[in-house]
Formats: sequence, structure tokens, C-alpha cells
Amino acid sequence: MTYDVIIIGGSYAGISAATQLGRARRKVLVIDGGERRNRFAQSSHGFLTRDGTAAAEIAAIGREQLRAYSTVRWMDGQAERAEAADDGFRVVTRAGEALAARRLVLAMGVRDELPNVPGLAERWGKSVFHCPYCHGYELDQAPLGVLAASPMSMHHAMMLPDWGPTTFFLNDAFAPDDEQRARLERRGVVIEGGAVERVVGERADVVMRDGRIFPLAGLFTLPRVSPSTPMAEQLGCEVEEGPMGTVIRVDERKTTSIAGVYACGDAARMGGSLPLAVSDGVIAGVAAHQSLIFG
Ligand code: FAD
Ligand code: MG
Repeated sequence: MTYDVIIIGGSYAGISAATQLGRARRKVLVIDGGERRNRFAQSSHGFLTRDGTAAAEIAAIGREQLRAYSTVRWMDGQAERAEAADDGFRVVTRAGEALAARRLVLAMGVRDELPNVPGLAERWGKSVFHCPYCHGYELDQAPLGVLAASPMSMHHAMMLPDWGPTTFFLNDAFAPDDEQRARLERRGVVIEGGAVERVVGERADVVMRDGRIFPLAGLFTLPRVSPSTPMAEQLGCEVEEGPMGTVIRVDERKTTSIAGVYACGDAARMGGSLPLAVSDGVIAGVAAHQSLIFG
């Protein structure tokens, strides 16, 4: 049996793509490993009608509503390999099952690689974040920090004062020039040049190597991102490298550089969010569907 479309990743982007294809009564398989990028955070913000809702609940409702479509099959599991095959693609799961489809949608999200500072990882999504639009408001204008990770952290530090008084910890990862220092000062950002030793406490207190402690309600830093699985590379899809990591290159219809392979959500855009993943998924699902008709 050959599916019309196999979707790798069944979170916001993948479910959204599958919904469009299911509504066109196409044979779709969604393979999902169940590791959403935001699984470390309790609630999700900024998505119309779902502001403050549990991130898991939004995904669960999406999955439940997808079940209504009789031509869509859901598989809990991990896709391990994908390759071009006669008239389409072959996907092999970790369990060893080989599956065939005419089109592929890569909706597998990204992995976040945090700066190597003890105490960051266990606070990720709780008091350590990357996106102030997602989690800044709830910090209630209390003291915040930005931990530099790359030159992009300049942008991060310039934004944060809208969410609370901000200290910018350079941690040998970024050195602002005089002009950048002046811009940061005009925004009221306090610049701390030393090295950060660890993050401690109930929230995100920063301990410097010289022993000083900065009590903070929240610490913001930019992880390096890369697609969750090397599926795009296996298929030969072009990727885009940027200062914040790697994503799959797509055009405005979410087509990758390989005909028949679409990509959507965080795996195919820098700086994603639920609403963007959902909208990318719609575009990819519709594009994959129409390509089955129009070629
Ligand atoms: P994901 O949600 O990451 O899902 C990818 C899915 O693909 C996963 O289920 C994974 O298991 C599966 N997968 C991966 N590889 C394979 C494979 N080989 N085989 C099978 N399945 C696979 N955004 C907001 O809008 N509001 C917020 O408040 C918010 N808070 C966030 C908090 C944190 C801490 C983080 C890190 C992110 C937050 N985001 C928030 C961003 C949001 O999580 C992402 O934009 C969103 O999850 C992207 O959706 P996606 O479907 O592209 O990928
Ligand atoms: Mg998805």
C-alpha cells in the first residue's frame, strides 16, 4: 500500500498539514515521536483563542480532531530513514517497518542546544526561555537577564527591557562595540562582562565566576537549533545555516529543494511559534495535496 502523503512529526505543524489532506480524503500517515519542542513549558501563549492553554492540551485536541478523518492513520513512533524510491519515497521506522508514499511532509521540529552553563537545562521552559513574546509577560516586570550566546544576543538584549529591567551577561560569547554599548544603555540595559558560573535557585539566579549573585525572575538565551532528525539531509534537501542554527530551506509553498518533499513548522523556519507552525502546516498540506493533482 502506498500512502498519498507521509507526514513525519505530528505536532502543531504536522497535525495541521494532515488535517487539510484528511479533509480531501487523501490517504495520509502521520508518524510522531511525541517530543514537542515546548514540552518543557506548562502553558503556551500568543495563539488566538488558546492563550495560556497547556501546550499539551492544544496538541491533544488537534490529534483528537484529526482522528475524525477516516483516511488518516496515526502511528506513534520514530521515522528513522527516508529516501527516494520508485514513484515516491520510502520511510523506515525505528521499529523496522518500511512505508511508501508519493509525497513527504517534514514537520519534525527542531532540537534546542542550550549554552553550556550548569542550571540552564533544568529551568528551560520554566524560568529560562528564548522567546519573550511567549513567556515574558508573566514575569511581571521583575528583574530579567539575557545570557549571550552569539552576536544575535544583541537583538535579544535590546528587546528585553519591554518585559522587565534587564542585565545582559556577555559570558565571553559576545563583545558589543562602543556603538552597541550606547544603544544598550539607551534602552536601560546593564551590561555584565564577566563569565557566568551557573544558574541556581527557584527561578533563575545567575552566579558569576567571581562569586557575585544576580537574583532574576527569568533568564533569556538563544539556543542553537537544528532539525530534530537528519531526514532532510538523507533526502538531499538544502538547508539554511544562520547565526541561530540550521533549518530546512523552503519556498513560499513550503516546497524543499527536492520535488515532492515539503517541510513546515520550526524545522523549516527560524524563530517559530504555534500559530506560525499551524499556518505553515496548512500551506504544506495544501501544496502537497495539489501537487498530487497538478504534478
Ligand atoms: P514540534 O512541536 O517541535 O513537534 C515536532 C514533532 O515531530 C514532535 O512531536 C517530535 O516527536 C516529532 N518528530 C521529530 N522527529 C521525528 C521522527 N524522526 N519521527 C517521528 N516523529 C518525529 N510557541 C508559542 O507559540 N507559544 C509559546 O508559549 C511557546 N513556548 C515555548 C516554550 C519553550 C520552552 C520552547 C522551546 C518553545 C516554545 N514555543 C512557543 C515554540 C513552539 O514550541 C514551536 O514553535 C512549535 O512546537 C513548533 O511546532 P512544530 O509542529 O513545528 O514542531
Ligand atoms: Mg509538527
